[in-house]
Amino acid sequence: MVQDTIQQVMATLTQRIRQQPIPLGVSSRHVHLSERDFQQLFPGQSLQVKKDLQQPGQFAAEQTLTLKGPRGQIAQVRVLGPFRAQTQVEVSFSDARVLGVDAPLRLSGELSQSGGITLQSQQGEVVLTEGVIVARRHIHMSRAEAMLYGVSHGDTVQVAVTGSERRLIFDDVAIRVADDMCLEMHIDTDEANAAQIGAGGVVARLCGKSQVV
Ligand SMILES: [Zn+2]
Repeated sequence: MVQDTIQQVMATLTQRIRQQPIPLGVSSRHVHLSERDFQQLFPGQSLQVKKDLQQPGQFAAEQTLTLKGPRGQIAQVRVLGPFRAQTQVEVSFSDARVLGVDAPLRLSGELSQSGGITLQSQQGEVVLTEGVIVARRHIHMSRAEAMLYGVSHGDTVQVAVTGSERRLIFDDVAIRVADDMCLEMHIDTDEANAAQIGAGGVVARLCGKSQVV
């Protein structure tokens, strides 16, 4: 009897937790630099924290640079820290069109055969043969949160965004589990605009596993 009650309470709690809104983070175009590329672009400087981001240890740096593509350029693109092993430029598909660069849809860190671009600062320039991607939408979570949601690293799920006039269900949202991460869904500015996120009162909820069509 007692065990039945405990199980019932646990089931109800789990259900409630799964219905809680998932914090939404909209990623504007940004650059993660390798230490080597940073030194070339900002000689004599250190990577200075401007603002801490939601994920532990991640921050927006004071430094910005210009993305130069064959068709156009975009200035004042924020550098994020800490340093990465390889420089990675994350843009939206709209940005890629303005720049005239190929930017495949990838998870962070999957840079093989990705797009090339030129990075420019006031002090220097770095020509990348690869490193430009459009980030696949994803949800960061800790292992404990993954257990609560009943999902694993690498799963893909559906997330319903409600509360705007352009409510939308995002499919193929990648689950990224790591113990140094906290619960947050990351989408880019094209996706945020598609669902009118930023209007206030917008809520994202996990609504199931991705369906194979
Ligand atoms: Zn992310």
